[in-house]
Amino acid sequence: MILMKTVIIGGVAGGATTAARLRRRDDSAEIIIMEKGAYISYANCGLPYYIGDTIPERESLLLQTPEAMKSKFNIEVRIHNEVVEILPNDKKVRVWNHQTDEKYEESYDNLVIATGSSPLKPPIPGIDADNIFQLWTIPDTDAIKNYIQTHHPKKAAVIGGGFIGLEMAENLHAAGLSVSLIEMQNQVMAPLDLEMANLIHENLIMNQVELILEDGVKEFHQQENKTQIELNSGKIIEADMIILSIGIRPNSQLAKDAQLLLNKRGGIVVNEYLETSQPDIYAVGDVIEVKNLIHQEPTMIPLAGPANKQARILADNLVGDHKIYKGSLGTAVAKVFDLTAASVGLNEKQCQATGQKRGQDYETIIINQKSHAGYYPGATPLTLKMIFTREGKILGGQIVGVDGADKRIDTLASTIRLGGSIYDLAELELAYAPPYSSAKDPVNMLGFVAENVIRHMVSFLYPSDIDEIMEDIDRQKEIIVLDVTEDVERMVFAIPGSEHIPLGQLRDRMQELDKNKWIIPYCAVGVRSYNAARMLSANGFERVSVLAGGTAFYKSMHYKDRNNTAMVQQENQMNSEDTACAEDISKEIRLIDCCGLQCPGPIMRVNKEMTDLKEKEMIRVKATDMGFAADIDAWCRRTGNTLVA
Ligand code: FAD
Repeated sequence: MILMKTVIIGGVAGGATTAARLRRRDDSAEIIIMEKGAYISYANCGLPYYIGDTIPERESLLLQTPEAMKSKFNIEVRIHNEVVEILPNDKKVRVWNHQTDEKYEESYDNLVIATGSSPLKPPIPGIDADNIFQLWTIPDTDAIKNYIQTHHPKKAAVIGGGFIGLEMAENLHAAGLSVSLIEMQNQVMAPLDLEMANLIHENLIMNQVELILEDGVKEFHQQENKTQIELNSGKIIEADMIILSIGIRPNSQLAKDAQLLLNKRGGIVVNEYLETSQPDIYAVGDVIEVKNLIHQEPTMIPLAGPANKQARILADNLVGDHKIYKGSLGTAVAKVFDLTAASVGLNEKQCQATGQKRGQDYETIIINQKSHAGYYPGATPLTLKMIFTREGKILGGQIVGVDGADKRIDTLASTIRLGGSIYDLAELELAYAPPYSSAKDPVNMLGFVAENVIRHMVSFLYPSDIDEIMEDIDRQKEIIVLDVTEDVERMVFAIPGSEHIPLGQLRDRMQELDKNKWIIPYCAVGVRSYNAARMLSANGFERVSVLAGGTAFYKSMHYKDRNNTAMVQQENQMNSEDTACAEDISKEIRLIDCCGLQCPGPIMRVNKEMTDLKEKEMIRVKATDMGFAADIDAWCRRTGNTLVA
């Protein structure tokens, strides 16, 4: 019997998984992992949470040790051993043992490249200062944690608003630092479209993160232990420590030197069996190019899920299977302060980048739903966006919310993966009980609404579309932005220039509206406005479009206009002014639990409670809808009440 010798370069997600699966398939194979660092198989995805103390024990990040790999799996792990050259013709690798400084050659029958990727560090002046960090490995994590514990920094700046940058912003905030987040693009979290990212922007600001968009770092100026970050705009941000999180590149120099085929971004090109362009050399993980399952074009998707799945397929192929890695949808999820943001497939920016147009080549919907039945405590809003073709093919989805975004994106990802259409979404039979979902799950709702769009039962306008029309005086005259909410809601917020007929009065008052105009009904989340649109269409109004996502979404799109900083300052001032008053009345607090109510629900409750509130009595409201925090301030100002805190 011929014993196969497999050498694996890289001992974390892709490398360690390949090795373990290979051992389970072939007990006699010789397996050697070469890892240049000191750790293998660690939880890199958990590193930010150790910094923020959500994961308190460092040991929990270390999933395997070289010793355990030897004793449990008979896999030889050589840490501190960096492969510095691949010699494909000799079927050998050249290795540098960092501990002994020895260089040696190791032969292989099969070679697996699982070298991952590395964070970018552009040549910005001052970037090498001791208080500027990157987070990629366990030593990086130790360095950051150590710096926080020994230097007690008060202010951090995170450069880059990708998911690692955002996780770091949250965890540094959790560690007690005030945080500035600087991002060169006009939005954080590139897999989301701008309007969905705005929900994250708003929440970052609500959590006192100083968010700076569309500005890059020009230079770092050191001043004792402080750094002045000079931005391209000329703005200066001061920070005691800085985290760089501005993108990654595949670790493919070895492959390049060995003449393996690479793509333009440096990703190793592999076929469907994960074979590189050289015989007996395979590659998995962040370092490879994969096929995007939506449009079948090559792309890079550096995520742990694909790396693990590729590793399993590859290990099986190494023992003679012919399994195919079909490609990736880039399904991703991240927690950002109070919100979870998740995405799958293509976003609208990607569709537009290939020259496609909404309404022509694809359609989009944005809907607001609850995480579970509204009447069961704790329901929170979810905003869902889906992109699909008029034939019903799902191109991608994005979900942002406090709870339940992960399970909905997974349902969407599974449906796409199995070739399902928007009609399948409508038919999916999903588990339901009030604490978990609604009888019509948000994913079913995506299917229903998409079908309505395809059947021309409803058309949507987006906040940006309305802004564009409102800026043009001539076009402004052609439309009626129609608020169909109740009076109390209008006290909190109204789109400038809108007319008001509550839904309950619309049937009797629709003659007030000019049939020649384009009517754009809106409400808080989009349900009443949809009903208004159907009513108007059935009564001879030919041009009716619903404001997608309602005012909840519209307000998030205009979070900058609401001048949050000013609002926070005003609240702080009110807090101090009212401290005496609050102390005075603190024994007479009435608690209203509005958890689970979606805006305007909490405001309506507050409004009702206020009617029989006695002078100097105070109410404390508990709510789970993020919009309430902004709405209550506006409502108090308009009704002559005082927002204590
Ligand atoms: P890695 O796991 O990075 O392993 C590559 C290994 O190869 C490294 O240990 C490196 O030292 C070693 N190596 C490189 N060159 C050589 C050489 N020449 N010789 C020897 N060894 C070498 N993904 C998600 O899906 N969800 C998340 O929530 C998530 N969070 C993350 C958070 C952080 C902080 C980080 C850093 C990554 C996160 N990722 C997440 C990404 C995920 O960790 C990667 O996609 C995944 O680890 C890729 O696996 P890989 O095997 O290709 O590379």
